[in-house]
Amino acid sequence: MSSLMHSFLSKPSKSYLVGHLLSLLQVPLTLNQLHQIHSQIIINQLSKTHHLIANFLTSCLNLHHLHYVSLVYNQNPTLSLSNFMIRASIQCGSLGNAVFFFRRMLSSEMCPDNNTFLMVLRACAASNGIVVGQSIHNTILKMGFDYDGHLQTTILDMYAKNRDLGSAHKVFERMRERDVVACNAMIMAYSRHGHVELALEIFKGMNKKNNVSWNAMIDCYCKSGNLEAARQIFDRNPARDMVSWNTMITGYCKSGILALAKELFDAMDSRNSITWNTMISGYVHTGDFTDAFSLFHQMQVERVRVNEVTLVSLLSACAHLGALDMGKWIHAYMRHKRFKFDVVLGTALVDMYLKCGSLDIALQIFKELPHKNIFSWNSIISGLAMHGYGLEAIDAFNRMRECNIKPDGVTFVGLLSGCSHSGLVDEGKGLFSLMRDEYGIEPKVEHYGCMVDLLARAGLLKEAIVLIETMPVEPNPVVLGSILHACEVHKDIELSERMIKRLLELDPRDGGNYVFLSNVYACRKNWDDVDAIRKEMRDRGVRKTPGCSLIEVSNAVHEFTVGDSSHPQFAQISAFLDEINWGVREIGYEAKTEPVLHDIEEEEKESAVRYHSEKLAIAFGLMSTEPGSVIRVVKNLRICSDCHVFIKFLSKKYKREIIVRDKSRFHHFRYGACSCKDYW
Ligand code: ZN
Ligand code: ZN
Repeated sequence: MSSLMHSFLSKPSKSYLVGHLLSLLQVPLTLNQLHQIHSQIIINQLSKTHHLIANFLTSCLNLHHLHYVSLVYNQNPTLSLSNFMIRASIQCGSLGNAVFFFRRMLSSEMCPDNNTFLMVLRACAASNGIVVGQSIHNTILKMGFDYDGHLQTTILDMYAKNRDLGSAHKVFERMRERDVVACNAMIMAYSRHGHVELALEIFKGMNKKNNVSWNAMIDCYCKSGNLEAARQIFDRNPARDMVSWNTMITGYCKSGILALAKELFDAMDSRNSITWNTMISGYVHTGDFTDAFSLFHQMQVERVRVNEVTLVSLLSACAHLGALDMGKWIHAYMRHKRFKFDVVLGTALVDMYLKCGSLDIALQIFKELPHKNIFSWNSIISGLAMHGYGLEAIDAFNRMRECNIKPDGVTFVGLLSGCSHSGLVDEGKGLFSLMRDEYGIEPKVEHYGCMVDLLARAGLLKEAIVLIETMPVEPNPVVLGSILHACEVHKDIELSERMIKRLLELDPRDGGNYVFLSNVYACRKNWDDVDAIRKEMRDRGVRKTPGCSLIEVSNAVHEFTVGDSSHPQFAQISAFLDEINWGVREIGYEAKTEPVLHDIEEEEKESAVRYHSEKLAIAFGLMSTEPGSVIRVVKNLRICSDCHVFIKFLSKKYKREIIVRDKSRFHHFRYGACSCKDYW
């Protein structure tokens, strides 16, 4: 500021001063600096220079110094200054401030103009401001502004976006002239509420339709799931624009009809970033990651600008696949292209590293995130939990609370599962009551599931049963399954019998129930019962999800499914697996055969366990990567106890670190031991 003070000593002209002060206001300032500028404004009698005052007040608003703003504003309130302040407030995302200035206008008997109303109404539409919106509507009626068609359409839209379809409809009915814009707004309102017929009625009754009308109708059918009707409107649309194509492609992608989406995509003359991103995230959501990545490569070949949305989709694909190298490549790409690490992109990156097993990098990036929201915290908390760091997850939770971020149901699922993986019984109980008492979050079945799991693992079976019997929500197979698992570990046959009966009462079409049941029978070698269950599963068409493991080798993700030999190198892999089987037997490994669900000869059973997908994936990893490098595998189901022992021996014999992410957590195998301490 010393240069500022210096420039005033030489008494420059007024216009020079204004220009100079304006240039100072271009950069973010501290409150103290603003005070200095304000005194210059007063000393030099510039408080009626509208442009300068407006800029000055915007800087004050940016610092959230509302008191100071109203002080200055009150000295010379005009309509244009008021409108300026309302616009600036809305741009800062504060509807409250906008309403504050709006009320000031009314109380100082200044008459708002059309522009004032439009701005505030649009802000109400965008930020759930129905109460404010209603009162503004009343003011408009009182002041006699309601004949204005543009204003009426905006009111209609405000009601529609605030889910008050009745009021929106009333406004529409009362309109003297329903132009294209009003009809379009009403179609979109009906569409948002799923009233396809009503939307179609308006659409058909329109004398003139513009592109927005056609696109709104396509979108309406897509949202209702009637893709064929949407496609008919799309084909009939006389002036298809980019939005029409993108809307239709989005519709196909959301319904999982990727082939038709791709057909349209290929038929387009030109595409924008929305087109590319829709297609990529469509592939990611249907689990078609290879196509998602090949489209990303095509994007680069065609020199299409990749944006944050693309990267978030791809990072979530990497997280799902456990494709660390691919994720790292995207991270490097982001740095190279100088992407801003905002909260969304930063959280996606943290999540990718967590789910690919790189906890250290994830923690580092998380620490460096300039802004963290609930998603960032939830991601790090459940990440720590999955890696078996229950206490650290609680620690993160406490820091989150210090930052005044209110936890939600997801936060507590992360925390409770962390307690369960780390055997933190007291901490888990404390968090469970904190969730209800302090945050008013009603526990859902997944929270009860974590609690049951926590108690059962710790051997507190009776307490777990009491919880199951008193919980207000119906227990699902996952909840009962964790009790059964504990019964196996703690050898409580009688209890497991009771749980089995309970499982049978649950939805008989749920494949999960059958699997748990047959597992229990298999453990007791009741092969007749296992057979009966398998027969029933076949008869009812219920299928057990096949075990599937993924491993990333030289930038490609390889998939292994139990009982599937379609991998091009399958013969070599299974020969190599036999070899390492002998290798680990030499140092004490013995195959456990309980988890096999069939009455077959011991030797055959052993070979069924031998070809579990994670073993195939790890064997492939061992034969195709550098000695000493880390092997990372992602499995869709819980790792079985035989594979767990096998991998422990493997990590010792081959001196490799092996990281397996199964359905519930991470297992870091090193020197013959696992990070889960055999507690999973
Ligand atoms: Zn297994
Ligand atoms: Zn483990």
